[in-house]
Order: sequence, then structure tokens, then C-alpha cells
Amino acid sequence: MHYISTRGAAPLLTFEEAMLTGLARDGGLYVPEIIPQLSPAEIAAFEGQPYEEVAYRVMRPFVGDSFGDTEFREIIDRAYAGFGHAARAPLVQLDQGHFLLELFHGPTLAFKDFAMQLIGQMFQTALGRRGDRVTIVGATSGDTGSAAIEAFRGLDNVDVFILYPHGRISEVQRRQMTTPTESNVHALAMDGDFDDCQARLKDMFNDFDFRDGVGLAGVNSINWGRVLAQVVYFFTSAVALGAPHRKVSFTVPTGNFGDIFAGYIAKRMGLPIDRLVVATNQNDILHRCLSGQGYHKGATQPSISPSMDIQVSSNFERALFDAYDRDGKAVAQLMEELKAGGFEVSQGAMQVLQSHYSSGAVSEDETSATIKTLLDTTGELLCPHSAVGVKVAGDRRVAGTPMITLATAHPAKFPDAVAAATGVHPPLPPRMADLYDRPERVTRVPNDLGALMDHIKGHRLT
Ligand SMILES: *Cc1c(COP(=O)(O)O)cnc(C)c1O
Repeated sequence: MHYISTRGAAPLLTFEEAMLTGLARDGGLYVPEIIPQLSPAEIAAFEGQPYEEVAYRVMRPFVGDSFGDTEFREIIDRAYAGFGHAARAPLVQLDQGHFLLELFHGPTLAFKDFAMQLIGQMFQTALGRRGDRVTIVGATSGDTGSAAIEAFRGLDNVDVFILYPHGRISEVQRRQMTTPTESNVHALAMDGDFDDCQARLKDMFNDFDFRDGVGLAGVNSINWGRVLAQVVYFFTSAVALGAPHRKVSFTVPTGNFGDIFAGYIAKRMGLPIDRLVVATNQNDILHRCLSGQGYHKGATQPSISPSMDIQVSSNFERALFDAYDRDGKAVAQLMEELKAGGFEVSQGAMQVLQSHYSSGAVSEDETSATIKTLLDTTGELLCPHSAVGVKVAGDRRVAGTPMITLATAHPAKFPDAVAAATGVHPPLPPRMADLYDRPERVTRVPNDLGALMDHIKGHRLT
């Protein structure tokens, strides 16, 4: 199994190499050269199996020789042992034909734990075997960073530095990053917004001296290993509702396009998915693009669903790569135009995109109203991101095809928005109830590439 870059000008890599590298050296993202197929009988056999068993069967073909069978099973077991729910990703019914996939039972209460916990264990195993050490730098709108710090804290072969936009993340998100005491993990509060953090991160990857000097590795949602981990729960949930014997649809609250792209991979592997619905907040660049209006950057508007406050949606490049028939030169050209503000999608590519994806955008008021309505009609307390999904799903449902909306975070991770909408203050699960009492450790940093690189070089443990 080999991995190729979406810009067509980087070396082919194995799974392990692609995972440890993150961004390709031509600026592109790694994708599998071929998508493994699962037959209807193989998918049907997932029914009644534990989450970890399905995870093994779905992901094994992508991993190739990078891990042995037993080794990979043990990695998966360790990754999900710390989850607070036996089903890992339980389904809850909201209404006739509408279901919520709860992805917030991991250690930092957001779906990012599914990928990050797995990546942490894969890095530990691969680096231990190589006798190598890497520096992980990540940019976060809140949930990636907390999941990364939680997954890598105390591991032997990694230093972790997480850039987050100062003052623009929730207190729970911040505390999950600033309260771990292990000296290999560092929270950096940067001046600017999430797109600024992500841009500096990309700059670091494109500075090959720095990149090679510190052994830079990326665990942002562009990392293929993360996308792969997220493919699994599309299978477990669809099979629980009758796949492969019937089709299901998914609505996915979307920012960086990682989670929804994982759904697309599940579909390409053979899972009968009818529609993949992209749900955005008022930062609706993806909705506008999928509606045929081109892909044009605007200014990010801070919202009550901050993990989706984004203009440049990194993983969308992977969707474009397939829509352009895997023409790396064409994708590289689009990404060049994006630097100057945006691009138009060709008619042929647009047809491919629209054959898989639908979309909708939700205002702030609609998000709050949905949180309130769901509490009143079902007793479910939604985080604002999940509410964006539920609202769009309600508009896109088709009779006869179950709709599964992904609940991407626990309401207690965004208590202010939930309390403002409902008057109910969502409590943290008991296992993390002391989060507000733990001391914080954080460094304020400027939006300046040189200063950031110096800071990182000076604070590694090696
Ligand atoms: C990261 C995140 C999203 C967006 O996911 P993408 O994979 O980046 O599209 C949505 N909701 C929550 C709570 C998140 O943490």
C-alpha cells in the first residue's frame, strides 16, 4: 500500500512514512494510491462486533506492512481503552429516521480523540522501533490541540507544541491544553485567528531546514492516519441501522473537511452511503463552493461553534484531487490561485463533488434555536457544532433513508453557548470534574514565524 501526494510531485510513501510526515514536501496531502474494497458480506459481518474489531478490519488494508497484525490490534485496544462508553461511538435516536452518532465519549470530549488516541499509539510504536524522536507542532481551533496533548502527554519519543488563537477558544478547550503537567507537551497562545495559526504551521513545514532539524511531524487533520481512524465509525453506525442491506446518509458538522472526507472514503470502500451532507456555520465557504459559487476566502467570523470557524479547509484538497480525476498538477494550480484569494471549480469536478456531497449553512440564531428545540423535544443536550449538523440534517432528510448526524463534541465543552440557548449549564462528566481547579501552564507567542521556530527549538526535551 502506497501513498501519493495530491499535488503529484512528492515521493511515494508507506503508511508509516505518510503518517510520520503529515504534509507532503510538495505542499500536498497524502492519499492512498488505491482505495481498498470491502464486500457486502464483509460489511454485513461487522454487525454485533466490538468497535475495536471493526476498527481493525476497516483500517488493516490501509496500513500495509507498517504494523504487524497483533501489533496493530494492540494499538487499537490501547487507543480506545480510555473512552467513557463501552460502545465507543453510540447511536441515539432523535426522531423517525434521524439518529445522532455520539463521538464525544473520549478523554477530551470531542470526536478528535478517535483519531488522536490512535495516532499517539501508532507514533509511539513506530518511533520506538526506529529509535527516533520527533517534534509535533499542531495548529488548533480548540479540539485538535486538546486531543493531541492528551494523546501524547508523557510519551517517550515526542515533543508536542500546540498553537491556538489566543482568546478564541472555550475555557474547557484551553484548560484541557494548559493543565497537563508532563514536560513534553506545550500550549502556545498565538495572536491571531485559527487561519493564522494554520498558516504559520504550514510555513514551518515549508522551511526544510527547520523541518529536518527538529524532526517536524504533523498531527493536524491533514494527517492521513487521522482521516483513516475516522472512517471506522461510519461503518459501525451504518451497519447498526441496516447497512449494507440498505443505504444511509450522514450529516457532518464540517470545518477542515476531515471527518466528512472519512465518510467519503467509507463510501468508496463499499459502504452504501446515499448523501454526505456538509454542515457549516456562518463561515460557509464550503457550502458556497458546493453550491457552485467557487471557493473564495473571506474573513473568519467568530461563532459559537468555534471549531468550524475556518476559511481554508485543508482536507478539501483531497476531495478536489479525486474530483479532478487525481490530476496533481490541476490541484497544485488551484492551490496557487487560493493564495491570491480563491478559485473556480471546473464543471466536471463540480459534478463529481455534487454526486457525493450536499451542503447547508446555519446562522448563529438557528444554532441556538436548534439546541433549545432538541432539548425540549428529545432531552438531548447538543454542543453548538452538533446543533449545526442537526439543523442541516433536518432540512436534508429523505423519507426511507436513515440520516445519521455526527455529534462532534460534548455539550460541556461549550457550556456558555449551551447555557445561553437553554438556561441549562451542562456538567462535565465526573471523570474530569476537577478541570477548573487544576493550575494552567501556557506561553503567549506572537504571530511571527522566526520567533515561533526559536521558541520550539529552545523548548524540546532532547
Ligand atoms: C474539528 C471539529 C469539527 C470539524 O471537523 P473537521 O474534520 O475539521 O471538518 C466539528 N466539530 C467539532 C466539535 C470539532 O472539534
